[in-house]
Amino acid sequence: MIYLDANASEPVRPAARAAASAALALGNPASIHQAGRAARRVLEDAREAVAAQFSARPADVVFCSGATEANALAIHALGPGRRVLVGATEHDAVRAAAPGAAMIPVHRDGTADLEALAALLADGPPALVCLMAANNETGVRHDIAAAARLCAAHGALLHVDAAQTAGREPAPYLGQGAASIAISGHKLGGPMGAGALIVSAARALAPMLRGGGQEQGRRGGTPALPAIAGLAAALGAEYDTAAIAAWRDEIEAFCIARGGIVMGEAAPRLPNTACIALPGVRADLQLIALDTAGIAVSAGAACSSGKLAASHVLAAMGAGSLAGQAIRISLPWNVTADAVPAFCAAYGAMADRASHGAADGARLAREGTLRLKDREGVQPCQK
Ligand code: PLP
Repeated sequence: MIYLDANASEPVRPAARAAASAALALGNPASIHQAGRAARRVLEDAREAVAAQFSARPADVVFCSGATEANALAIHALGPGRRVLVGATEHDAVRAAAPGAAMIPVHRDGTADLEALAALLADGPPALVCLMAANNETGVRHDIAAAARLCAAHGALLHVDAAQTAGREPAPYLGQGAASIAISGHKLGGPMGAGALIVSAARALAPMLRGGGQEQGRRGGTPALPAIAGLAAALGAEYDTAAIAAWRDEIEAFCIARGGIVMGEAAPRLPNTACIALPGVRADLQLIALDTAGIAVSAGAACSSGKLAASHVLAAMGAGSLAGQAIRISLPWNVTADAVPAFCAAYGAMADRASHGAADGARLAREGTLRLKDREGVQPCQK
């Protein structure tokens, strides 16, 4: 299989695997015996490593289960007494944690409409603004520095979901004025099950989970030490931006030549991500055709049980019907050159079949529906 679904989960880095495996032999970091103290050292070393990557202090790092929890904790702790404003293309982890929040619209290229944000900030009491550093479906980046300046001018706090940029590029958000950052271990080459909210220790942070008062009383529950150690080990690993971007560009050029449309093409984007619509061909059918050819990609659309819901991200960008016809190709850190011709061969064959007329299209749809039924409950298009 050629794995091109890094934005769902990056493959685990060797250093992360080793660190996680070593931590499995340790005790509970809260115990006072030797095994517990050894575990505590690993936990605090991980905290220091994470803090260093984000220009924070160790006490600012709150370990938790992943970016879903980190985003929810930011909104839970920083939101009370403020209006919550959420980017229209934010991940569901943010949208679900802020029901009733006002939406910050995006331009057609997927970047946040900062004039609209300024107008929203000017019109009402202080806000908590949630904007992602880069979008998981399109790779489109928001201008976090400019958003932070606007927030500062209006007494607002800015929370940045950095799940897709952490580990792939520098993260200067705190220095730019953000109040908090969410990261996720499995998005950066660590194991699943750990993440962090990075927020000044000086800021009062009412916990969502109280439990045993772990994480300086900011997040109760025994920390997932192996996953945390793996996250910290993965964070410092190398990322070959130039090679990954060049291969992504080759893939995009091929798809465009076969009728594909790159969503957010003109915007600043992550180097590894291509979101490509093939007009007239449902995203789930594209996924299945590629999966059958041994290529693992994803879609913005949610498509379990044979039903297709258009991506809210692409809909917010004004993509219309293309919102249900786009797939996401996201190159992992360990991608190799042979992934490009393999993907292109499978995509070309799929595009050829799709363009063979209505009869073939209907057969593709029937086959796709049958195969989707086989996978009921598996949710093949989760991000
Ligand atoms: N935020 C973004 C931008 C994501 O891409 C994801 C995962 O898809 C999340 C948050 C949720 O992360 P986790 O799986 O660590 O809960």
